[in-house]
Amino acid sequence: MKTIDYIIVGQGLAGSILAYTLMHQQQKVVVVDEGKENTSSKVAAGLCNPVVFKRLTKSWMVDELMPVALNFYKHQEELLNDQFYVDIPIYKLFVGEEERDFWQQKRNEPELLEWITHTIEFPFEKNLIDYPFGASYTLQSGFLQTAKWLAAFKAYLKNKGVFIENKFDYNTIVFDNNFVCWNGYKAKKIIFCEGYQSINNPYFNWLPFKLTKGEVLTIDFKNLTLKSALNKGVFVLPYNNYYKLGATYDWDNLNEETTEKGKIELLKKASAFIKDEITVFEHKAGIRPTISDRRPLLGIHPKHEQLAVFNGLGTKGVMIAPYFAKVFTEFLIANKPISKEVDINRFVD
Ligand SMILES: Cc1cc2nc3c(=O)[nH]c(=O)nc-3n(C[C@H](O)[C@H](O)[C@H](O)COP(=O)(O)OP(=O)(O)OC[C@H]3O[C@@H](n4cnc5c(N)ncnc54)[C@H](O)[C@@H]3O)c2cc1C
Repeated sequence: MKTIDYIIVGQGLAGSILAYTLMHQQQKVVVVDEGKENTSSKVAAGLCNPVVFKRLTKSWMVDELMPVALNFYKHQEELLNDQFYVDIPIYKLFVGEEERDFWQQKRNEPELLEWITHTIEFPFEKNLIDYPFGASYTLQSGFLQTAKWLAAFKAYLKNKGVFIENKFDYNTIVFDNNFVCWNGYKAKKIIFCEGYQSINNPYFNWLPFKLTKGEVLTIDFKNLTLKSALNKGVFVLPYNNYYKLGATYDWDNLNEETTEKGKIELLKKASAFIKDEITVFEHKAGIRPTISDRRPLLGIHPKHEQLAVFNGLGTKGVMIAPYFAKVFTEFLIANKPISKEVDINRFVD
């Protein structure tokens, strides 16, 4: 039996970022993942947007989350000697005078100053993009090439001999006093980072997941070339030599199948402002691990202290995960409290 500190189930954004954060604090981990293709993390566009366009407010905890996230991905680029994170402005194309004026009114709010610009601009060719009310853009935004980073990080774990490609079977957990044994390992805890698949976990299926399916297309244009991301009901993001167009939100059909309906919806919304021929190269779907109160899930099982969960990254995993992986690590190794807002105890009577 090999003694380690933590067994992590899931190598999506949650499991990978938590694993590295623990390893960075000299903790011994083993990561188990079944290698599914259409996971939320692999399908995601990876955008890190500091504002909520609908209300034009700062994204939740952005001042705390963003610096930790940027630092984490920069560190990964140095560690794995490749580029994963790309800085890019996101242009909000205004749908009408009202939205444009609202953005203008917000110019006086000091808390938004470092996240958005206030001038109304017309930087795109008007024959290719229809945006009569102009556009303004976000500052300090970017995107993580999630699939690329996850593949590189998986190779890093394999190289260290701490990655197991397998479906985790809950029946094989053996509780041993304060420890837990699984597959020849004895650990302090098993930390479940299973994304939406937590709904099948007999220990954590009581958590109030309110899952959201999302579809995204990889497209190209005949004439249009973009160096920044656009948002007008959907986002268009320059991604390697193509563009990502997304995303849909579906709370009812919770499966990883792509649909004609999703594709048509995205293309219809894009064609409403992009006056160019669009070719679709790829179509993917995934299920976001969203929670009823839209906050992450961190904590220890109320009855089994050897079982923990790190989940609920919702629609913003790229920005949220590094900060809360740090919070959870500090809790696990130094017993630093987790705030009530994200602790799973908020759902325990
Ligand atoms: C279409 C779409 C677009 C998105 N766009 C963005 C975006 O632009 N920006 C952003 O920040 N977020 C975006 N998201 C959300 C983002 O993907 C999630 O917040 C995040 O990736 C969730 O990561 P996770 O690790 O919790 O879950 P997952 O990615 O689902 O990872 C869970 C992992 O656990 C493994 N697993 C589960 N159960 C087991 C088991 N029993 N045994 C072994 N392995 C197991 C799975 O194989 C998987 O690898 C998007 C999501 C979708 C679907």
